Amino acid sequence: MLIAIDPGHGGKDPGAVVGDYKEKDINLNIGLKLRDILINKNISVIMTRDKDETVDLQQRCDRANKSKANYFISIHCNSFTDSSANGTETYAYPGSVDGRNLAQYVQNEIVEILKTKDRGVKYEKFYVLKYTVMPAILVETAFMSNPQNLELLLQKPEDFAQAIADGLIKFLRSVDYKQVDDIEKLQMKGIIDKHYDPKSYVTWGEFASVIIKILEGVK
Ligand SMILES: [Zn+2]
Repeated sequence: MLIAIDPGHGGKDPGAVVGDYKEKDINLNIGLKLRDILINKNISVIMTRDKDETVDLQQRCDRANKSKANYFISIHCNSFTDSSANGTETYAYPGSVDGRNLAQYVQNEIVEILKTKDRGVKYEKFYVLKYTVMPAILVETAFMSNPQNLELLLQKPEDFAQAIADGLIKFLRSVDYKQVDDIEKLQMKGIIDKHYDPKSYVTWGEFASVIIKILEGVK
């Protein structure tokens, strides 16, 4: 099992800025703590960045895709002009069943552990959700523009990391590993060309091309 962790922004792109605090630093802090927790649980990790580095959105997708990570988790903080806006929301790509389920598990854990307002799971065609080939989520941990939320982000980054880890691990237990392995085997044999979400639907076009590859023998 390999998890890609994507701390949003970095380098020249600070993300949201509130006072002296930059989103890129908070995202990295949570991301590195999440990495350590997962490695301790014997889950392998690849970071799209592990320092204050400028990495564009396509590079983030490339790094995750090349590593053949099984799941992708992007970490961000929210921000809004009205400082009363607060809470946690988690995004998945529209139609990704595994993405939606992973997002829901992570969302539930953050809201439970941090007691943030539950803004729910949402669906957007964000770049890193669209151009990663594995199920992917984007976590908007809390609002930097809300003083109470900012305090949580600054004081309890390890709790955010732990909540994301717990949500991921609960989600992984819910997935049929055998099916994930079978999909990876088909991919290694060249019968399918990407990591399919185990619960997603296959079109007749995709089904036909798989059958043809088997009948003609994969070279
Ligand atoms: Zn962001």
